[in-house]
Amino acid sequence: MSWPELALALTAAALAASLWRNWRNWREYRKLRRWAIQPHLEDPPEARGGWGRVFDALHRHRRAALRRERRLAELIVRSRRGAQALPYGVALLDGEFRLDWCNVAAREHLGLDPERDRGQPVANFVRDPAFAEYLRADDFAQQVRVPTGGAPQRVLALQIVPFGDDENLLLSHDVTGAERLEAMRRDFVANVSHELRTPLTVLAGFLETIQDLKLDAARVRDYVGLMAPQAERMKRLIEDLLTLSALEHATAPPPQERVALRALLERVKSEAELLSGGRHRISLDIAGAHDLLGAETELASAFINLASNAVRYTPAGGEIRMRWCSGPQRPDDGEFSVEDTGIGIEPEHLPRLTERFYRVDRSRSRETGGTGLGLSIVKHALARHHASLSIESAPGKGSRFAAHFPASRLVPALQKVAN
Ligand code: ADP
Repeated sequence: MSWPELALALTAAALAASLWRNWRNWREYRKLRRWAIQPHLEDPPEARGGWGRVFDALHRHRRAALRRERRLAELIVRSRRGAQALPYGVALLDGEFRLDWCNVAAREHLGLDPERDRGQPVANFVRDPAFAEYLRADDFAQQVRVPTGGAPQRVLALQIVPFGDDENLLLSHDVTGAERLEAMRRDFVANVSHELRTPLTVLAGFLETIQDLKLDAARVRDYVGLMAPQAERMKRLIEDLLTLSALEHATAPPPQERVALRALLERVKSEAELLSGGRHRISLDIAGAHDLLGAETELASAFINLASNAVRYTPAGGEIRMRWCSGPQRPDDGEFSVEDTGIGIEPEHLPRLTERFYRVDRSRSRETGGTGLGLSIVKHALARHHASLSIESAPGKGSRFAAHFPASRLVPALQKVAN
């Protein structure tokens, strides 16, 4: 081959190689461009040589990005699941307190629908003025308590927690139970103070009179005689409070001692007779040869309270029937009942009778030496023995209070029951 021919051939070959390289670059570039437009649909293209190394690097970046994305998605799902599982309501709000997202509890507490209500100011859903004032005051260190509108009425504790870049969380917590307990505690303290203040005022008055006036011994004796029942009333109240507190706070179940039922019931009858002073006909009927398993003092306290109520709320001449029934006539349980022909109770009071200090007629209760705690003591003492109290009453006719003991509390009596 001559020199010019060789030069021509070399030029043609170089040209062909350059063309081939350009074509290949163009082809890889097209692959890259196609992938770059929709990188989420497919993997980066494959190639050999320099392009291959570039594509491999892209491949690695993409896989790392995908892993990061997956982890992030999982984290978001887990965070949302965690927020959903919280017993607190959580709502995500923007800087203007507009709703972005909320969990199930917040939906339920505030009546929110995260789809429908997105972008709405949260004040549209919590309409209580206290909440509007809370938002306006812009001091979120404390919670604000607001009642919900619906029935049954509930109380929510709400708190705004600012975070991030001008964002807010709204936390909600149902505090209805705690609020009720708090109200009960306040009532209880007020009741006890009131119950103690009345006799104490009387006592203080007498003491002052005795101190200031020069009284002869007979007058002093008279005054002391008038003071004694007041002191007695305070003593009874404190004793009942201590009994109730011991019953309420006892975590351990009562001991499983065998309580000789006949002896216990006869004692209850004697106490009722003593209190009645012969003004009532009092009977005791025992059907069933069982003893009870439990704490004798607690059972005695419950039974004596029922019997003394029957005496105190039955006018003179009335009748009080106490009865124990177990055995073949009642195969599933044992029942102690006290039935009277007394003043009876209007039906609307029945559900509240075992509340502390609940009385139908406050002055009658006081006149007869009541503390308002008797039936609370009965309820707690019975509950500790897995027993329940039932009350039937007809105003003007009389009442029947009955304690029902499960069969597991009954054991065959040691004493022979004559009946
Ligand atoms: P109290 O010391 O006032 O008798 P209790 O807790 O024993 O307190 O009883 C609560 C209220 O239930 C009483 O004040 C009374 O109004 C009513 N009550 C209880 N037992 C009887 C009964 N046998 N007959 C009529 N009312 C009763």
